[in-house]
Amino acid sequence: MENKQYKLAAWPAIVRAKCPRCRRGNLFANSMYGFKGQVMNTTCSHCGLTFEKEPGYFYVAMFVSYAFNVAEMVTIAVAISVLTGSKNPWLYVSIILAVAVILSPFNFRYSRVILLHWLTPGLHYRPELSQDKIN
Ligand SMILES: [Zn+2]
Repeated sequence: MENKQYKLAAWPAIVRAKCPRCRRGNLFANSMYGFKGQVMNTTCSHCGLTFEKEPGYFYVAMFVSYAFNVAEMVTIAVAISVLTGSKNPWLYVSIILAVAVILSPFNFRYSRVILLHWLTPGLHYRPELSQDKIN
């Protein structure tokens, strides 16, 4: 029987929040918009990588989340200005805050995904670990 190698490209692995090392296991145990809040797996179910490599490591993700928030808020402010031409600051504040609340689960999840996929030194995709366990 031929040994099929499972390869997931980098972008689909990021969008689906997969393990940065094997791109098979899920980083999160549940969906982004649920009532229970997001639960992150401690280790990869496929390759066993410990996602939080030291206590408090995900505090670094706050900087990524901050960058996401700034980009979203500037984009929305420009969009409001272009679409409505309004000079009423309460319109800007209310819409920007509403969108920030709506997007906060997205920012929480993808700041950690970006941290693990792009900003963690020494953590790279290893295709040999993405193979099926049973050959
Ligand atoms: Zn893995």
